[in-house]
Amino acid sequence: MKPVNSEWFTEYCEEGGSAFSLQLKEKLHDETTPYQRIEIYATTHFGNLMVIDGFVMLTARDNFLYHEMMSHPALFTHPQPRRVTIIGGGDCGTLREVLKHPGIGHVVQVEIDERVTRLSEQYFPELCESNRDARVRFDFGDGIRRMKEAGAGSVDVIIVDSTDPIGPAKGLFTEDFYRDCYHALGSDGVLVQQSESPLLHYDSIIRPMHRAMRAAGFSDSISLQFPQPCYPSGWWTATLAGKKSVREFRSGDAGKKPFPTRYYNAAIHQGALAQPEFFLTG
Ligand code: SAM
Repeated sequence: MKPVNSEWFTEYCEEGGSAFSLQLKEKLHDETTPYQRIEIYATTHFGNLMVIDGFVMLTARDNFLYHEMMSHPALFTHPQPRRVTIIGGGDCGTLREVLKHPGIGHVVQVEIDERVTRLSEQYFPELCESNRDARVRFDFGDGIRRMKEAGAGSVDVIIVDSTDPIGPAKGLFTEDFYRDCYHALGSDGVLVQQSESPLLHYDSIIRPMHRAMRAAGFSDSISLQFPQPCYPSGWWTATLAGKKSVREFRSGDAGKKPFPTRYYNAAIHQGALAQPEFFLTG
């Protein structure tokens, strides 16, 4: 147990001229891996907090918003998802949500930094409760490389649960990567990627992401919105891209989903598909 110098953790957001702080109880862990620096804190009101390279990855209190929106909309958009690949997602919160779908046959999680998963097992055990599910294979490697090597039509849904587009995640936001994903997806294939804040990153990330996805061959793409208090601006997106339309989903199945969620339901999915005026006018 290391003492903390400050009672608060603050993430500074340069592009927003803003910052987000959480009050701390103590620092639980700090290590630098070959890929990044990982810090874990206990906070006073948000439970445990994981920070990578100074950026908040998740808190115990609000991660359900992000993890549910990164998984269920894509899985209820595909007509019959069986084969899922998660790129990144080392904390395993998205993986847990994916495995709630009884029709899933297998999930490969390609996380570049095994330490993220090991630390999540230790400090966020609730997110890792399905890690021993027989349908899961952990592949600790580079998602960009793995998608380049993936067989044609070998995946139904690809979930890109990555860090911001810097460091090892930079190549996950490119047309080349989306082209490899397109190739790996079957004919009903759906890709979903975390796509940052509509308020802060519309011009710099969201709009270019749509252009790159369409240029890579996807016939449709749409950004779903949701609240995410611990990320800059508190307003976040997950962008869906499909070989077919991603504007309709299996709303009947979502309405009678056989598992609990805290945020996602069919009405939330429908609502998240509504587009703010500036998304439409560009
Ligand atoms: N939800 C979080 C966010 O938006 O802040 C992201 C959570 S998850 C911890 C992100 C993971 O992506 C990290 O564990 C990181 O190691 C992984 N990652 C980054 N680049 C990667 C790559 N090229 N291949 C596989 N995993 C990668």
